[in-house]
Amino acid sequence: MNLQENIPLASRTTFGIGGPARWFAEASSEAEVAEACAWARARDLPLFVLGGGSNLLVADAGFHGLVLCIALAGIALDGDRLQAAAGEPWERCVEQATEAGLAGIECLAGIPGSVGGTPVQNVGAYGQEVGAVIERVRTFDRAAQKFVEFPNVACGFAYRRSRFNSADRGRFVVTRVDYRLRPGGAPALGYADLERHFAHHSGAPTLVEVAEAVRAIRRAKGMFMIEGDPDCRSAGSFFKNPAVAPEAAERIRAIAGAVRAYPASDGLVKISAAWLIEQAGFAPGFALGAAGISSRHTLALVNRGGATAAEILALAETIRSTVEQRFGIRLEMEPDRVGFD
Ligand SMILES: Cc1cc2nc3c(=O)[nH]c(=O)nc-3n(C[C@H](O)[C@H](O)[C@H](O)COP(=O)(O)OP(=O)(O)OC[C@H]3O[C@@H](n4cnc5c(N)ncnc54)[C@H](O)[C@@H]3O)c2cc1C
Repeated sequence: MNLQENIPLASRTTFGIGGPARWFAEASSEAEVAEACAWARARDLPLFVLGGGSNLLVADAGFHGLVLCIALAGIALDGDRLQAAAGEPWERCVEQATEAGLAGIECLAGIPGSVGGTPVQNVGAYGQEVGAVIERVRTFDRAAQKFVEFPNVACGFAYRRSRFNSADRGRFVVTRVDYRLRPGGAPALGYADLERHFAHHSGAPTLVEVAEAVRAIRRAKGMFMIEGDPDCRSAGSFFKNPAVAPEAAERIRAIAGAVRAYPASDGLVKISAAWLIEQAGFAPGFALGAAGISSRHTLALVNRGGATAAEILALAETIRSTVEQRFGIRLEMEPDRVGFD
């Protein structure tokens, strides 16, 4: 294990924000994951698992424990199974699956970050979620100090949620994810943006074409990582779409004269958080100091250059309290906050 001290974290996050890690190590094997966990445990230090840094807001003071960066590599395709080590870029899985004619993750193209990050918040976009195709998640259990595998049903997948970011947050280090895909399956085209994209397409689009269309749609919204694009200095969507009782949706309709809502599970209704933010008076490009709202996607908060984590949180709180005052709904933040405890 190559242990380093006082390593800057900002450059390892898509936000480009945050102080240093007091201790930092990279794990390229399961043995190194176990070793790093034992090292932190022996010193009673907190440990944070870092993937691609695309869903994080790191505190300006940094993290005083050990940051363990997951660098395990390798992707294997076998029939309908794609088995990927946690440190692989997620996008590489999408490329390999779509090129091999395996359906199930084509709409998740262009999402930054690592394979290990995908089960944590049950990554989803354009009508697909990884929870629908994950067969098994292999992890190191920091509490029991041994490797444990979870079948899909034991992962607790829900909208942007799993056991790994809720009840068992921080306990399991994901080392490998097995996805079960659909050979020769048709691409998912249920999402309005995709339907529009292929409205004049002759014949059914291929999985590769759908993945490419998703990337193009994302690029237009600043939700596809492009070096130098100021709208990409973000963690993607900063707020989750709230799921509310139908009466709450009706209350919003009464206040705003309309509501952008979709059916959700358990008889609830999912309200578009971007719509709520706009209705509360925040336009794309709104800025508060060096923190701002993306000029192309109201749900993404951006670092306009030199922003601190405190500035991002101040903007987030301004948005949340204004939305709450107007609609009685408290928006939940999506990115993980590191070093704020
Ligand atoms: C431009 C942009 C667009 C995005 N679009 C989407 C989208 O459409 N849909 C979506 O769901 N998300 C989206 N995101 C958010 C983000 O890309 C995903 O959540 C991604 O899966 C995070 O993976 P990561 O490796 O970067 O995790 P990190 O940001 O490094 O970590 C996020 C959390 O996962 C944990 N974690 C990471 N790796 C492991 C591991 N191996 N074991 C245990 N815990 C781990 C971390 O401890 C942390 O709690 C977007 C982000 C950006 C910047």
